[in-house]
Amino acid sequence: MTVQRIHNFNAGPAALPLPVLEEIQASFLNFNGSGMSITEISHRSAQFDQVINDAIARARQLLKLDDSWHVLFIQGGASLQFAMIPMNFLGQGQTADYINTGTWSTKAIKEAQILGKTIQVTASCEDENFCYIPENIPCTPDARYVHLTSNNTIKGTQFAQFPETGGIPLVADMSSDIFSRPLPMDKFGLIYAGAQKNLGPSGTCLVVIKKDFLETANPDLPSMLKYSTYAGKNSMYNTPPCFGIYTIGLVFKWIQEQFGTLEAMAAFNQEKAGMLYDVIDNSDFYRGTAQKHSRSLMNVTFRLPTEDLEKQFVADALKQGLGGLKGHRSVGGCRASIYNAATKEGVQALKDFMISFEKENG
Ligand SMILES: *Cc1c(COP(=O)(O)O)cnc(C)c1O
Repeated sequence: MTVQRIHNFNAGPAALPLPVLEEIQASFLNFNGSGMSITEISHRSAQFDQVINDAIARARQLLKLDDSWHVLFIQGGASLQFAMIPMNFLGQGQTADYINTGTWSTKAIKEAQILGKTIQVTASCEDENFCYIPENIPCTPDARYVHLTSNNTIKGTQFAQFPETGGIPLVADMSSDIFSRPLPMDKFGLIYAGAQKNLGPSGTCLVVIKKDFLETANPDLPSMLKYSTYAGKNSMYNTPPCFGIYTIGLVFKWIQEQFGTLEAMAAFNQEKAGMLYDVIDNSDFYRGTAQKHSRSLMNVTFRLPTEDLEKQFVADALKQGLGGLKGHRSVGGCRASIYNAATKEGVQALKDFMISFEKENG
């Protein structure tokens, strides 16, 4: 049976690689000959142990992590991390730096403030509607960490390089670009990502945390809000998000089999984003909303001459099998989310559509 699938440019939950969906479908009723679905087996079984350990091992291989790191799966999405990070790492009299590059950074700052923590917003690009990534960001000398959002899903900007912090650990929300490129892990104390952009279904957050950074965490917290609980129980203190972890492991396997390394993954993503920015740069009809040097390779945000044309663009695209192109409700315009799983054929189809739409309406 052939299934009619569209080219899906949704921002999140977002497209997953077709081979991953097919493998899930094939094994959904009978996982590994168990006679049970992956959603029916015990998280205390040897079978599930293998699932979670395989996912962790693949994450380690791709990110080139040694034994000084924990790889954790936590429920509550990226948004719970906005609160867990300051709860775990900011005690009395301690402070942290936050870089504000958009909606998600703003939310992370808000959660730290709700908790009554002392933080410094050391850079913000709100003055220009978050259309660029700030440079030469100062650090507070005794900051426990510097928090940033590596890719701004809504505004379409991305850190091309990470700031120098003089040894202060970076803590990064990488929800929308994790595993899209290699990372200088020595700069980080913790990275986290809600799964539904680049990794799997929503509901699971991947957290990679440096062991010596974890050792400095506040021990006086409820079990479910402490990283040490997850680190001490291989993320199985309570029932973990089994299906999410299974899918994330398959996505890692797909990256390894299709691309081998994150360097190759990054080259593929560069190529795809270049195809769309090329159309934008060679047109007076489409206007990119992010400054060129700050552009995201994951979320390509652009405007058309009028809001009516934007509506028509999104509707006509869908008729051609190109879905999810409406910008975030807070900013309007159009957005093509082209995460790892976006295919080159899909991006080429969008590019062709953009060119012909301009010819007809420009
Ligand atoms: C989507 C997104 C979030 C929110 O993730 P949830 O899992 O819904 O909490 C946070 N940060 C970034 C950068 C995102 O793209």
